Amino acid sequence: MNIPMVDLQGQYRKLKTEIDTEIQKVLDNSSYINGPIVGEFAADLEKYLDIKHVIPCGNGTDALQVAMMALGLKPGDEVITTTFTFIATAEVIALLGLTPVLVDVLEDTMNIDPEAIRKAITPKTKAIVPVHLFGQCANMDEIMVIAEKHKLFVIEDNAQAIGANYTFKDGSVKKAGTIGHIGCTSFFPSKNLGAYGDGGAIFTNDDKIAEQMRAVVNHGMKVRYYHDYVGINSRLDSIQAAILKVKLPHLDNFAKARNIAANYYNTAFANCEKITTPVTAEFTDHVFHQYTLVLNKVDRAGLQKHLSEKGISNAVYYPVPLHQQKAYRDERYKDGDFPIAEKLAANVMSLPIHTELTIEQLKFITDAVLEFIL
Ligand SMILES: *Cc1c(COP(=O)(O)O)cnc(C)c1O
Repeated sequence: MNIPMVDLQGQYRKLKTEIDTEIQKVLDNSSYINGPIVGEFAADLEKYLDIKHVIPCGNGTDALQVAMMALGLKPGDEVITTTFTFIATAEVIALLGLTPVLVDVLEDTMNIDPEAIRKAITPKTKAIVPVHLFGQCANMDEIMVIAEKHKLFVIEDNAQAIGANYTFKDGSVKKAGTIGHIGCTSFFPSKNLGAYGDGGAIFTNDDKIAEQMRAVVNHGMKVRYYHDYVGINSRLDSIQAAILKVKLPHLDNFAKARNIAANYYNTAFANCEKITTPVTAEFTDHVFHQYTLVLNKVDRAGLQKHLSEKGISNAVYYPVPLHQQKAYRDERYKDGDFPIAEKLAANVMSLPIHTELTIEQLKFITDAVLEFIL
């Protein structure tokens, strides 16, 4: 067997006819940039997410950068985010000359700890960037209360949880990425809604912020060749939009398939003390962008080698928290400052999760894991 982390070929084969047709249409009318399909996909996504504005852009990292630029954040402003995430989140904060303020995560969900956010707020704090890590939402009830109290912007990094539903304390439900002032996502091929190249989008219900973001992604112009702001060039191309438009109606079924695989894993590992399976908070569902175990007194490198030798892909997301990354070394932080993130970084391991896993593959994977651990 050879089991990849994500099976893009298998998924493509199922959707091939529809996808090929839509790509061919773009080729036939040659509207590669800003073709009508880009607007159509954005409108479909607005409807799916129940949000007023979806602004497509070049990738998820740009989405975060555009959000921060549109909010007018300035050097010296502090932006609070989690130390246990993909680097893009902190990268754009640093690139814009803002000050990233890192905080620890909760041990069970691995998402940003609202209490740690409270403690990190200073008069310079301007925004909070929660990351909905691995496919489930951070505690947005608490984060929005903190943001309102201190008049902070909330930018959701929703690159990993598109399609997840969040249930508020009052029972109302919203889609991940539509709760804060701005939501950002990525259509990187391996994401839950993946294109066949780079892509991203930014969401908001705020007309003014939307207008600003539309200008920022387009060289800072609202009227052609009149540049009111310093912007960037960040576009979703028509071929990617065509692929995404075909895939979007399948997104909920993709999440179901991922949940079936996750449930199989959960059941197989339920009685193994050395494995903690993913814990989903009560206020969110989980779309399992990653299926991430926490190992307890297991030789992780040995297990990884054992799996790889059997053709089972595996990965560590993420081996080094942001405060320990070389490029982000900062005298404000030292080893041991964020003990939960550091412990997770040392003990997590992700198994293949995607829409095409078969029961035979899942059995092969879980047998191989247990063979090494027991
Ligand atoms: C993938 C990802 C991004 C960046 O998306 P790109 O499209 O690769 O730029 C940002 N944040 C998180 C949490 C991600 O997983």
